[in-house]
Amino acid sequence: MAPTYDVIVLGLGGMGSAAAHHLAARGARVLGLEKFGPVHHRGSSHGGSRITRQSYFEDPAYVPLLLRSYELYEQLERDTGREVATLCGGVMLGRPDSRTVGGSLASARQWDLPHEMLDAKEIRRRFPTLTPHDDEVALYEARAGLLRPENTVAAHVQLATQGGADLHFEEPVTRWEELPGGAGVRVHTHENTYTAGQLVICPGAWAPQLLTDLGVPFTIERQIMYWFAPDGGTAPYVPERHPIYIWEDAAGVQIYGFPAIDGPEGGAKVAFFRKGTVCTPETIDRTVYDHEVRAMADQLGPRLPTLPGRFLKAATCMYSNTPDEHFVITRHPAHPENVTVACGFSGHGFKFVPVVGEIVADLALTGTTPHPIDLFDPRRPAAAVA
Ligand SMILES: Cc1cc2nc3c(=O)[nH]c(=O)nc-3n(C[C@H](O)[C@H](O)[C@H](O)COP(=O)(O)OP(=O)(O)OC[C@H]3O[C@@H](n4cnc5c(N)ncnc54)[C@H](O)[C@@H]3O)c2cc1C
Repeated sequence: MAPTYDVIVLGLGGMGSAAAHHLAARGARVLGLEKFGPVHHRGSSHGGSRITRQSYFEDPAYVPLLLRSYELYEQLERDTGREVATLCGGVMLGRPDSRTVGGSLASARQWDLPHEMLDAKEIRRRFPTLTPHDDEVALYEARAGLLRPENTVAAHVQLATQGGADLHFEEPVTRWEELPGGAGVRVHTHENTYTAGQLVICPGAWAPQLLTDLGVPFTIERQIMYWFAPDGGTAPYVPERHPIYIWEDAAGVQIYGFPAIDGPEGGAKVAFFRKGTVCTPETIDRTVYDHEVRAMADQLGPRLPTLPGRFLKAATCMYSNTPDEHFVITRHPAHPENVTVACGFSGHGFKFVPVVGEIVADLALTGTTPHPIDLFDPRRPAAAVA
């Protein structure tokens, strides 16, 4: 019997919802299966805001994907009328030889991206909330800004549904296997069994349990987002006046933050870029403790003196890290005919959500993609080193 669907997408978070949309838009018969409801707070795609930027200190190889992702985010906004991106500008701040500044500058130069270099005096003049040391500088990028993760997922779910995809929420996949003769896959849930020509796995923090045979030692990390109400009110922090920032200190610790996007009562969000604690989706401690709030406020005090005014709230989220913090996007090496995988986004995947949807659709429907994804091969040596 021919499979019922062309493609089954496992997981409808950031990446899976984008994949479902791009697959359905190309005419594929798509079934999406999601463990929780649409747009939930138990994975990695929530918390109101995500940074987007093109000067990419992680590796210049990401830049062409970012350029495409920017186009697709604009398209998403046009197609759904939802607000998904606010390009308020961004500063990558630290000593000139820090990874944040040096790496951003190298990728901006390599790809000829518009940017400005600001010394400490100029940073203080243009952005008076920021008080850098005299030896700190910033790369300013006018096209950096913030994305709205919940709106992005909702927009992709909406377009996938409009494109004819069947999306089933609160229906976790319990197991799957390949059909005999490479004819496709069979996917099981508590309710049902489905067949499809192709399976796309976008598991977020559930990668360690769902992709044991990939050969990549993922580390799932509990991360905290904090919201503070600045002393003197949010007026200097509104996106019309305030950039996103990533700020690396002399010890290499990065904090990042956003303008105040949720009105005078909503405060401004800040976080450590890394420094998470190892967890699993089942055992993550969702309580945020006083000492954690104090550690964040201590970081902010010298750098944005008005920001730690009043602590408002905090929330947890999960990173899915690979050893080298580069993504995994590939045909599954053990099931190359029928299975595509997108995972290990290592805390920096959201800005790529729509282009990952496009790449996954390419891989599932044609077996290959014109996008440059060599860096994301799970067989790269640095992906296997724990
Ligand atoms: C605090 C924090 C800050 C971040 N900041 C940034 C940032 O500023 N910029 C940036 O670019 N990125 C950022 N990221 C990273 C980015 O948000 C993630 O890379 C991205 O959201 C990952 O999307 P995903 O689809 O892989 O995971 P998710 O959105 O979590 O989706 C995975 C889905 O799979 C589902 N699932 C799991 N198991 C099953 C199953 N058995 N059956 C069915 N469904 C299943 C889950 O329920 C979930 O919905 C941040 C992440 C966090 C946590």
